[in-house]
Amino acid sequence: MMRLFMEIHSGNPREGPGDDESTLRALRMITGLPEFPSHPDILDVGCGPGMQTLALVRATGGMVTAVDIFPQFLEQLEHSATELDQNDPTGRVGGRIRTVRASMFELPFEPESFDLIWSEGAVYIMGFENGLREWGKFLRKGGAIAVSQISWLRENVDVEQKELYDWWMEHCSDIRQVGENLQIIESLGYEVLGHFTLPESAWEDGYYASLVQGIERVRKDHPGEKKAEEVIRMEREEQELYRTYSDWYGYEFYVMRKP
Ligand code: SAH
Repeated sequence: MMRLFMEIHSGNPREGPGDDESTLRALRMITGLPEFPSHPDILDVGCGPGMQTLALVRATGGMVTAVDIFPQFLEQLEHSATELDQNDPTGRVGGRIRTVRASMFELPFEPESFDLIWSEGAVYIMGFENGLREWGKFLRKGGAIAVSQISWLRENVDVEQKELYDWWMEHCSDIRQVGENLQIIESLGYEVLGHFTLPESAWEDGYYASLVQGIERVRKDHPGEKKAEEVIRMEREEQELYRTYSDWYGYEFYVMRKP
């Protein structure tokens, strides 16, 4: 199942909803960093194939350390950076990206060594609160964190949309209302710099469009295989769920500063 899942996902530009426009919108909320925007040290946790890593390195002129547990994603990012450099030799993007294979639970860095910690669609793996608390230790004073996280956009989902609520409790229970997440951020001692909901296009064009191609690839390569059909069914179910309930949940970008 895992291998089939990877076959659907491999080669895709993203591993979760998002797009460059949203990455840059979150980046613009950060002002007053000591080294910003000249040459900040940035850590991108759970970078995946690294679309946002490339956007960050281009937009800031900083150095981005990109961490993921799966080496194939890091290779894909390195390949994309090399390709970009070949097309625009003045960009020198590759030279400002350092890939590190590590678990986000045990980051191999010195305390207070980054100006900015970025993570799109990955903090849920540690849990929103746990991730923000632990990663903050690697942030210099006055530095910022930006994460995107699956969130309820309305109240009383457990009562009004029980089926949807139960689906999320089964698949990823680290989902809360935006207001609750803002409270968590403040209770951890951060200052909220801003937040916004990713547009639906960041799901459809940014993420699902390439997933659909992956699904078609697996369908063609594994005709009649029960496990392939099951993996495809699971992917489809998730997409349908979003299309039905996009008023009720979404990805929220949260941007904060360590005092
Ligand atoms: N930021 C990327 C990928 C998000 S998907 C994007 O938005 O496209 C979540 C990523 O977290 C995947 O790339 C996955 O390989 C990575 N991941 C999962 N468990 C991890 C762990 N324990 N440590 C580091 N990365 C992990």
